[in-house]
Amino acid sequence: MDQSTNVQADKHFLTEKRKIIILQFIVSGFLGILCLASCQNTSNKNLPIIDMHMHSYPVDYMGEANIPNPIMGKSSGIKSDEELMLATLSEMRRYNITLAMTSGPLEVLYRWKAEAPERIVGGVYFDELTTLPDVEQLRQQFISGRLGMLGELVAQHVGLSLNDSLFAPYLTLAEELDIPVGVHTGLGPAGTPYTSCPKFRVTYGDPILLEEVLVKHPKLRLYIMHGGWPYVEETKAIMSVYPQVYADLATISWIIPREEFHEYLKDLIRAGFGKRLMFGSDQMVWPEAIGMAIDGIESAKFLTKEEKRDIFYNNAAHFLRLNETVD
Ligand SMILES: [Zn+2]
Repeated sequence: MDQSTNVQADKHFLTEKRKIIILQFIVSGFLGILCLASCQNTSNKNLPIIDMHMHSYPVDYMGEANIPNPIMGKSSGIKSDEELMLATLSEMRRYNITLAMTSGPLEVLYRWKAEAPERIVGGVYFDELTTLPDVEQLRQQFISGRLGMLGELVAQHVGLSLNDSLFAPYLTLAEELDIPVGVHTGLGPAGTPYTSCPKFRVTYGDPILLEEVLVKHPKLRLYIMHGGWPYVEETKAIMSVYPQVYADLATISWIIPREEFHEYLKDLIRAGFGKRLMFGSDQMVWPEAIGMAIDGIESAKFLTKEEKRDIFYNNAAHFLRLNETVD
């Protein structure tokens, strides 16, 4: 049975339910930390950053506009798609984010790309609300450079793993054209299967499930989004056996308790993956999340200056083959 048909059928229901999940998100166990007072990026000042995980969402993608930031507890006051785009680009300039792998509904993404073509790399997005375009259309978009990434692929939220046949032609295309692939792993907000995504399962967030895809597509340039949290052992297992796999640290750098994030990051560094971990904000509808995510890395006292530079820029530059490093 075609899984994408089911996804479309639930669309209206899911949009309505998104409000509920965000409220649950705010009061859930994710509310573990308050952002450090400044959220300023001091030691990294002026050095370039690559954000491997940004979203170009419409302002009401979470169900309505002005949803409060789940950690700060207040909304940004942003009322339109245009305001959200401009505020996000302003934060990117403030923190010298020179490049952001950005995904969302394509009509919104293309507006962002037109506004800041030098900073935005377009990603084709998939989740419970947004389906993938026709494969041949996508091929043309990749070839023209209008899109440069397959992802974020949020298969977990519709009860699928990346190994589902739905994704097979897209993965074949990405492998053929050497397009980076970003796949959501880990968790979602508390109560997700009861609210916005009835088919969501914790099980499908396990990075171990990427293994068959990696075997079938050995040249795929794949990165694990959200660092695979909380599956640290499984993430280490995949990254050990498949040295081409990188990981971004998006969301977990600002939304889970800071101590938990730092212990998780320390574990991955200790396991020897310091050259394959990449910064990501997962900016959704809260532009200030960019600064919060940067602070999550900057405040990790166990990281050397060089390790921070690798996470903020050099590892992503290597993964994206930009052929430059910044010390
Ligand atoms: Zn995600």
